[in-house]
Amino acid sequence: MAGLEKRNPGQPEFHQAVKEFVSTVMPFVLDHPDYLQHQILERMSEPDRIITFRVTWRDDHGNIRVNRAWRVQFNNSIGPYKGGLRFHPTVTLSVLKFLGFEQTLKNSLTGLPMGGAKGGANFNPKGKSDNEVMSFCQSMMIELFRHIGPDKDVPAGDIGVGAREISYLYGQYKRLQNQFHGVLTGKGLSFGGSLIRTEATGYGCVYFCQEMLNHRDDSLDGKDVVISGSGNVATYAAEKATELGAKVLTLSDSSGFIHDPDGITPEKLEFVKQLKEVRRGRISEYADEFSSASFHEGKKPWSVDCDVAIPCATQNEISLDDAKNLTDNNVQVVCEGANMPTEFDAMHHLMKAGVMFGPAKAANAGGVAVSGLEQSQNALRMSWSRAEVDEKLLGIMKDIHEKCVKHGSTGELPKDNIDYVTGANVAGFIKVADTMVA
Ligand code: GLU
Repeated sequence: MAGLEKRNPGQPEFHQAVKEFVSTVMPFVLDHPDYLQHQILERMSEPDRIITFRVTWRDDHGNIRVNRAWRVQFNNSIGPYKGGLRFHPTVTLSVLKFLGFEQTLKNSLTGLPMGGAKGGANFNPKGKSDNEVMSFCQSMMIELFRHIGPDKDVPAGDIGVGAREISYLYGQYKRLQNQFHGVLTGKGLSFGGSLIRTEATGYGCVYFCQEMLNHRDDSLDGKDVVISGSGNVATYAAEKATELGAKVLTLSDSSGFIHDPDGITPEKLEFVKQLKEVRRGRISEYADEFSSASFHEGKKPWSVDCDVAIPCATQNEISLDDAKNLTDNNVQVVCEGANMPTEFDAMHHLMKAGVMFGPAKAANAGGVAVSGLEQSQNALRMSWSRAEVDEKLLGIMKDIHEKCVKHGSTGELPKDNIDYVTGANVAGFIKVADTMVA
């Protein structure tokens, strides 16, 4: 670890992700001389390639603006690079390296042939007009297009990159390459997108949560669920949890959270989708619209009494204090919809307290899994029905859960809990490591 920090100064998020991984896979690696002999851990924690570039674009006032963008091609041992693009002012190389590292293991867990990558820019789409976002995306693609391709690297969305941005990026790619193929996923349905891709991360996360509960002869039915975030992951996690009989109490954005003790019904959720996707408004408007709800400015929802917590906003949104609030309220499950939303010590606190903890690389793998299915449909020049894709997604999430149980049944946790963190890390590691050795 000291070597890793020395080689990558000023990259705390990346160190955090690698540290969490290494601390759980080390016993497994020490049992396998092949991995040690081939320096697999050292090789896996160094990206294959990092592309850094300038994006120059013009705002609505005619000013020239400059941002920095990256594509981190982390590991293509088991398939073409695959992973989202994030547009947010907090994007740094450290954040993208942590996300690319996690993506490699997550993609391996899905069982589909996808390597790991991540990219993005420190561009803030908030408050920008459609025209400005288009100008940024087109300018970004002018550099990115030469590094990607359906058998090379297939980007998708992430925070700040949704259907609108993917459309602008894809349009520009086609102009530059004169090729109509599956180079991006999360595309619109009329130009090669897959049904269920928008819902996939949220649905998949709830499928995984349900599997965790089923494993303990329990289910989501009748559970109180607290969710953070209000983007795709959060809203579709809320939709699926409600469908499975749970009551969803909260949603949030960077301004605070709303608490609705009556539950966020499908009708109310429709309001949130319109608010966020179409009007791009603030979550506080929910409390203006529905009198059953209150808005808590600048706060996170982790002190609300619940059985299940699904963090779907961003990295490190659950601190140790938040985790203590959750265990004080007897939370039973924490299932990560966002990437690395739980800090290292918070995660250990939850697991030691006997909380079932579903780590992101397993629990939120549904999004990239359906991206993989979108690639397959593009290659076959076919589109599968909603039911077909949903069934495949459920099958993949069940399969990931089984792999976690197989490699995470250490028996060291209280209440015979499964160590899903070790399970996911070891299961994701084996396929990539064996391929690198081969
Ligand atoms: N950004 C999503 C993730 O973190 C999806 C990536 C993709 O579909 O390629 O897994």
